[in-house]
Amino acid sequence: MACLVCDRPIEPFLSFGRMPLADAFLTEAEVEREFFFTLAVGLCDSCGMVQLCERVPDACMFHDRYAYYSSTSAGMQRHFAAYADEVRRRCLAGPDPFVLEIGCNDGILLGPLASSGVRHLGVDPAANVLAEAARRGLTVRQAFFSEQTAAGIEREHGQADAIVAANVICHVADVHSVFAGARRLLTPSGLFVFEEPYIGAIVESTALDQMYDEHVFYFSLSSVRHLAERHGLDVVDVCPQPVHGGELRYYLARRGAHAPTPAVAAWLDRERASGVTSIAAYRQFAARAGRIRDELAGTLRRLASEGRRIAGYGATAKSSTLINYCGLGPADIAYIADVTPGKQGKLTPGAHIPVRPPEHFRAHYPDYAVLFAWNHEQEILDKERGFTAAGGRWITYVPTVRIRPGSLT
Ligand SMILES: [Zn+2]
Repeated sequence: MACLVCDRPIEPFLSFGRMPLADAFLTEAEVEREFFFTLAVGLCDSCGMVQLCERVPDACMFHDRYAYYSSTSAGMQRHFAAYADEVRRRCLAGPDPFVLEIGCNDGILLGPLASSGVRHLGVDPAANVLAEAARRGLTVRQAFFSEQTAAGIEREHGQADAIVAANVICHVADVHSVFAGARRLLTPSGLFVFEEPYIGAIVESTALDQMYDEHVFYFSLSSVRHLAERHGLDVVDVCPQPVHGGELRYYLARRGAHAPTPAVAAWLDRERASGVTSIAAYRQFAARAGRIRDELAGTLRRLASEGRRIAGYGATAKSSTLINYCGLGPADIAYIADVTPGKQGKLTPGAHIPVRPPEHFRAHYPDYAVLFAWNHEQEILDKERGFTAAGGRWITYVPTVRIRPGSLT
């Protein structure tokens, strides 16, 4: 298949096989009609973009029952408050600034900016999360952001001093339309700022569960820079973020508008040295992913054969890839605890493991709990101290399978 950025052939390096949609939690009655596709990831050798080999139509994923609400984690609320401060400081110092957020979800990033009186607009295709943003008093529009949407926003609001996004740009297959729209909407000195899971961090920690239907692209600075150049944009700064297992935040501006910081050249050097622009690193990644699968499935089956009770914690979208790739089901993991009300009482995609509220976990501690929401590890371990105090042990699998406290034996 052809690269979505430059149309050259891409080289697949890892296939997970048939997968459900990662956020498609379902009822018993919906099991018969479950949608599956082949999840495989490849590298474009020409422009360096890592991407899905088979895509799912957007309407299947970002619909009125979109299950992910950004504001469910206290740690993420702190992170986005700091992101908002950074945007305010770097982009919104002029008179009557305007900020646009692409994929505003429930308003976790836009909320702090709007509450200080900044003109703003949040765009998101998922009506249910958008309703929550509107309830917070944010100005919102239900739409996929595209060049066409941008034209309408420009007519209504004028150009934007800041266009911001988080964990959104990598979702959009028609990324050229997003970049063209952003280019059009930016003021001459405006910044287009977005942060996304970083392929360098995914490879380094073998975070294979970052790969699922919604993540069409796995960005590096090298691939984002190539994409930006096609749209007359420069990457003028880049900054690592310790969320979702390791992200990069990119700052883009119209060509020549701002001098790049030294961080840009430093990260490009680092990417060349680490090999994330070449297929060899991805073939090794695929081999490590296979070992994690074998080891996790083997460990859980051994514990089950010893009569141990096993549950999961965090029915995250990314846990769907791991659970289905490992071939796990309710016989291996009795239930998964999750704070999201919309997931509770449903079954996980593909594997059909029941989702229960954390109160259920606390009332029925298992012997072992697989920590699927490993990106919120500290927050969860602190919140669930009672589990380890009662003798329970956590199982983690990034970067390798571990039982904690203790060892695999
Ligand atoms: Zn390409």
